[in-house]
Amino acid sequence: MQPMPEDWERAVAVVAHPDDLEYGVASAVARWTGQGKEVAYVLATQGEAGIAGLPPDKTGPLREEEERRSAAVVGVRTVEFLGYRDGLVEYGVPLRRDLAAAFRRLNPDVVVTMSFDLTWGENGPVNHSDHRAVGLAVLDACRDAANEWVFPEAGPPCRGIRDAYVAFGDPTHFVDVTATIDAGVASLREHRAYLEGLGGDFDPDEFLRNMAGFTGLGAGCEYAVGFRRYPMS
Ligand SMILES: [Zn+2]
Repeated sequence: MQPMPEDWERAVAVVAHPDDLEYGVASAVARWTGQGKEVAYVLATQGEAGIAGLPPDKTGPLREEEERRSAAVVGVRTVEFLGYRDGLVEYGVPLRRDLAAAFRRLNPDVVVTMSFDLTWGENGPVNHSDHRAVGLAVLDACRDAANEWVFPEAGPPCRGIRDAYVAFGDPTHFVDVTATIDAGVASLREHRAYLEGLGGDFDPDEFLRNMAGFTGLGAGCEYAVGFRRYPMS
């Protein structure tokens, strides 16, 4: 793994659900915003099907609010929701169009998303179908956004996306988050209703430090987040 280059100004992080970015990536976001970079979040859904016993019409607004608070903790002010239905996101042209339009609006140098592998690791559980749909569509939408003949109704093309970085999976790059993991933990803690809904004794601090500590072993620092780079040219 190499250190992820930091010679860029604007990133857009795209995921399926509120909390996806807070399970690790937010510690890296805190580092970037601390350097004066601009980071925006785009979420495909409100995560309205995410809390057992709480109906979607109550859960959606609650989780959207929690996501905005989580984002603010790590210096992110722009949080957009695309309005897809939680659990039913499909890879396809409509999703690619909405993502390409978001990239054309926000004009990032770098795009960040999450693993779209079928499983979490070799023997891990099946990755959520929304994650698989969104991650793959993000990579394709980076190219779509640059092509003036694809989705011409979605705004003028943006040709600045250099790389997409996919969190977890089989990383090629890392971000040293030793100085910002506390902000990452605080960001995850903002998902109060969701974490309460999980019940049990989940500890955001212990969870994030274990994960980032493990990646840090390979990176040569105390805490790190790993990304796989997909160059866009
Ligand atoms: Zn998710």
